[in-house]
Amino acid sequence: MNKATRRTVIAGNWKMNMTPSQTKEFIKELAPMVAGKDDCDIVLCVPFVDIAPAVEAAKGTNIKVGAENVHFAKNGAYTGEISAEMLNECGAEYVVIGHSERRQYFGETNETVNQRVKAALEGGLKVILCVGELLAEREQGITEEIVSLQTKIALLDVTAEQLKNVIIAYEPVWAIGTGKTATPEQADEVCGIIRGVIAKLYSAEAAEAFTVQYGGSMNAKNAAELLSKVNVDGGLIGGASLKTADFTVIVDAAQ
Ligand code: PEP
Repeated sequence: MNKATRRTVIAGNWKMNMTPSQTKEFIKELAPMVAGKDDCDIVLCVPFVDIAPAVEAAKGTNIKVGAENVHFAKNGAYTGEISAEMLNECGAEYVVIGHSERRQYFGETNETVNQRVKAALEGGLKVILCVGELLAEREQGITEEIVSLQTKIALLDVTAEQLKNVIIAYEPVWAIGTGKTATPEQADEVCGIIRGVIAKLYSAEAAEAFTVQYGGSMNAKNAAELLSKVNVDGGLIGGASLKTADFTVIVDAAQ
């Protein structure tokens, strides 16, 4: 297993935080702090209205911009929704799909996650696909089954070529926004399980090259240890991505 062959991705998920003006200020402050730190991709996934200002502010820097969701239809009567084409035209490069908050509060299912993944890929976006078990599922000993099922259904009809534009974030739901972090060993184990699913669905080579992030209360203190694990190729970071200093420490840990 050669971690060095895979791309590390440090991505912030801002959730419903930051206005357009705060976004511009944040990136102005962050850009010099992460300049030249090119051993990982640095992505900020931001609310829809912040995408255009973020793209503008990130021009000429090593910060990439992503969205937090995308609708599965190309266009049409879906009031309040946003298409892949719209995101693309605004300059978003990535999109988070299947975040547990979307699954929990907005009725997202494995099937709609799969539809969104396909729409995003067809629309030219890179996908950060979130999978992860609930606390009860971990306690029932079915973590492997849950993340494997979520991964398999999300990737139905995704080709090997398209897979190159997908990364997966393993996000145990009990660790998101709770301050409870999976141990580095737990994170490594489940990221490895996900890699195994990719190997079965595609090939050993595809799995070897595939980026699997950990997400769930990753912060300036615990990032280095989590990122040192062989199967952990980066992080999806909520709370700690809202502070330039903390986010920079995490980027540094990935160098
Ligand atoms: C997330 O929103 O994906 C996340 C991991 O949040 P936090 O880091 O705040 O737990």
